[in-house]
Amino acid sequence: MTAGKRDFGKRIVVSLHDVTPRHFERLLRIDRFLENVGLGGCYSMLVVPNFWYRWPLREHRDFQAWLRARSDAGVEMVLHGYHHVDETSHPAAATRWKARVLTAGEGEFLGLGEPEAIRRLVLGRELLESIVGRPVLGFVAPAWLYGHAALRALGQLGFRFAEDHWRVWCPRTGATLARSPVVSYASRSSARIAGSLAWSRVARAALAPARVVRLAVHPHDFDESRLVGEIDRALRRFLAVRRPSLYRELAGQ
Ligand SMILES: [Zn+2]
Repeated sequence: MTAGKRDFGKRIVVSLHDVTPRHFERLLRIDRFLENVGLGGCYSMLVVPNFWYRWPLREHRDFQAWLRARSDAGVEMVLHGYHHVDETSHPAAATRWKARVLTAGEGEFLGLGEPEAIRRLVLGRELLESIVGRPVLGFVAPAWLYGHAALRALGQLGFRFAEDHWRVWCPRTGATLARSPVVSYASRSSARIAGSLAWSRVARAALAPARVVRLAVHPHDFDESRLVGEIDRALRRFLAVRRPSLYRELAGQ
């Protein structure tokens, strides 16, 4: 693909999920990988304030310094849950199914009541802003799962962007900012790996008409060489025809 065929009206938004001191070594490696494929600092980190109640950002000064340095280099910092673990009971059967099957129990913001959702969003945003020294405009729920209370809380608190599997929207106004299925990878079992490899391989053609393509990577994807190879291939092909972009640019910020 020649530079002349690059359509700069089309964008790709790349996100790195589960940014927590638990995965520090993997994250350093992934950050270098993203640099090597040509993204530089133009991607988004989804940061978890206290992963599984065991990895509080507050207590990891080296990790905080790294986040600040990456933010200074242009990486967008997005709040990603608070504990990243689902501790609610989900009374409705359909919700219970969603929580178990889709997330392996990490759909933290699916069953939370509104006061608790607000509390975690406020605390998480304040913490992350204090670490990186700039405003945090967006939130992505763990496993992309939002309950009604979480959706209301995001709007009340003025978040400028959020996303699920299907779209990016502005919680403050309700406006849709982009609509297309996210390209992501699963590393939990052979069947899921095969499924995500197949989707990734057809995504470039299937998503060609989309103004915005989103590609999400998780730390454990990089434990699996087949996934690393496919993520490398997919990113290079998307970047040949699309401009890397941040969520906040979709939100006009
Ligand atoms: Zn996550």
